[in-house]
Amino acid sequence: MQREYPPRLFANEPLCCGFPMSRHQTYGNKNGNVNRPYYKCKDCSDMVFDDWEGIRGGNPDCACNPPRISRGQIERGSDYTFRCARGRCDFKMNIEDWQE
Ligand SMILES: [Zn+2]
Ligand SMILES: [Zn+2]
Repeated sequence: MQREYPPRLFANEPLCCGFPMSRHQTYGNKNGNVNRPYYKCKDCSDMVFDDWEGIRGGNPDCACNPPRISRGQIERGSDYTFRCARGRCDFKMNIEDWQE
């Protein structure tokens, strides 16, 4: 059987602090993120997932220019929250503010 990999979000390494971020993979953690590829910045420890988990049409647009579909995720201590899928802007919206 052929193993299926999730489609990647980034065609190239995203930049952070002026350098390309390095690619890693999660090995399961308390948040239930198992085997998800992600990029991490060596300088500021910012990280962003390199998959389409939680990114769906119908999500609010983030504050990037041009705006992109945000990523919805469950965050510790709060409800479902939308954030910039690529970690480029500071967009953040709670699902209760999105669903009228
Ligand atoms: Zn950085
Ligand atoms: Zn954004």
